[in-house]
Amino acid sequence: MQISQVTVEFRRTVSDGNYGNETAAMQFTIDIDRESGEDPQFVGKIALSAARAHVLAELKESGSLNIRRALIPQIRKCNRCGEVLPDDFMGYLHPACSELERAERDERRQAEARDLEEMPF
Ligand SMILES: [Zn+2]
Repeated sequence: MQISQVTVEFRRTVSDGNYGNETAAMQFTIDIDRESGEDPQFVGKIALSAARAHVLAELKESGSLNIRRALIPQIRKCNRCGEVLPDDFMGYLHPACSELERAERDERRQAEARDLEEMPF
């Protein structure tokens, strides 16, 4: 079987938070030129990426602040080092950064305990 055509579609519906929503969609159907060695998967990937970019750009022009805000990428960063946290990680600190925070907190508590012992009363 030879793939001679690829169709991709990107559709996004975003709630305006006020009982409404906006939808944008783009669909491409592309003839594959196997003679010149076009890879259907590669062509599909490029076309889908273009459709996604167009749809998201269109929705970012919405008159609704809620819709524009919903399209801001939600990138979570570590509270200590500021590096991006993986999407599957639920905490606010990398485990290594969490360990550093704990060590610093312990150090502060020990210093406070020493200060209390040295007080003249
Ligand atoms: Zn970190």
